[in-house]
Amino acid sequence: MSPKRDYDVLIAGAGMVGAGLAACLATGEVTRRLRIALVDPNPALPPLAGEPLDLRVSAVSRAGERLLRATGAWPLLEPRGPCAYERMVIWDGAAAPGGPDTLVFDAAEVGEPNLGHIVENRAIAAALVERAVAAGVTLVRGSVTALTLGRDVATATLAGREVPVGLVVAADGADSPLRRLAGLGGDLLAYPQEAIVCHLSAAQPHHGTAHQHFLDEGPLALLPLADGRVSMVWSTTPTAAEALVALDDAAFAQAVTRASDGVLGALAPTTPRLKFPLRRFNAATYSAARFALVGDAAHTVHPLAGQGVNQGFLDATALAAELGGALARGGDPGDPGPLGRYARARRADNALMGAALDGIYRAFTDARPAVMMGRRTALRLANHAGPLKQLLVSRALG
Ligand SMILES: Cc1cc2nc3c(=O)[nH]c(=O)nc-3n(C[C@H](O)[C@H](O)[C@H](O)COP(=O)(O)OP(=O)(O)OC[C@H]3O[C@@H](n4cnc5c(N)ncnc54)[C@H](O)[C@@H]3O)c2cc1C
Repeated sequence: MSPKRDYDVLIAGAGMVGAGLAACLATGEVTRRLRIALVDPNPALPPLAGEPLDLRVSAVSRAGERLLRATGAWPLLEPRGPCAYERMVIWDGAAAPGGPDTLVFDAAEVGEPNLGHIVENRAIAAALVERAVAAGVTLVRGSVTALTLGRDVATATLAGREVPVGLVVAADGADSPLRRLAGLGGDLLAYPQEAIVCHLSAAQPHHGTAHQHFLDEGPLALLPLADGRVSMVWSTTPTAAEALVALDDAAFAQAVTRASDGVLGALAPTTPRLKFPLRRFNAATYSAARFALVGDAAHTVHPLAGQGVNQGFLDATALAAELGGALARGGDPGDPGPLGRYARARRADNALMGAALDGIYRAFTDARPAVMMGRRTALRLANHAGPLKQLLVSRALG
């Protein structure tokens, strides 16, 4: 007789990835019959009409968009204006934007309507939670504080109560308390950089173009927002980040306009500036007995190509597919076979993405003249290499 379980699947963390997995499972053809709990001490609430755009936004690739559309979450985002970006312009150091060493990705060149959308993180998580709950997921406000993983049942402790479940999924972010409770480690690399994030007004229209300028100490990205502003992610040394955050608005406006080579005219901050540490991590394994990791709990990458949550959405889609397959064969969501297949496939893909982004990070922060010359040439060549560009764009689209 199978042991008593309160839920088939308990997902700890209702951020974008955990809520995405819950919505995928609850709306999936086979997985909709699972009893699912989505646990978070602080689940995202939908932004109110007219509420200013949140500071945290993400470049959502086609893979993310697919998940958001399949779960019915995409229409809920429309009032918050996902901003399609059709072009990406990348240049290096002292080279001029638009000059011969500029790499331009254009959606039209690869027959796509756009290269992705810039969307508010909070709106994404709230829309996915809303879809999950509408499809029958139980939302529990609380934290998982202890975990026992067994062959037949996993037990999660919630507000002092032991909850027996078939599978626990940790979607509890980069510091993942559950990953630690499960005793899973991994490779951690702290980049000697921090990212400063804020929204900026721009004197010139962005025309749906994302800009990225590789400076000596790290990249400055300007992502288009639907209201005409741009979202800035400026990765730099911790010392420089500290100084930039401490500047008054006028001095910061001058600094960021200069760092952007004036590509959008004068820039000025319209929000406070927040700093984030940057690190690369990949868990040694993404599964254990009746346990799986997804999203930042499993891996983090440098944000220079806006891939973190998109890789997490690919985890959610892959895990939901494996669980659906297991159920269709009469299995149980905690069976080791499908969990192991999920873990191997996604770990390898995330390792590849982490290594590629790490390579770009290293190439663009290397101040040796030969390397600097080499990367300019690489940008110029890549700009004229049609098949290579198509490959890069299709990988970035997910
Ligand atoms: C500066 C910056 C820019 C970025 N830009 C992009 C981008 O453009 N595109 C992109 O794809 N990615 C981007 N990323 C990465 C992206 O932000 C992350 O990959 C994403 O937020 C991870 O989502 P998550 O749901 O896995 O984790 P989180 O968003 O961290 O959510 C974890 C959730 O778990 C909950 N939780 C914690 N502990 C517990 C517990 N014990 N029990 C239950 N719940 C718990 C928390 O409350 C939280 O809601 C960027 C990252 C940074 C730092």
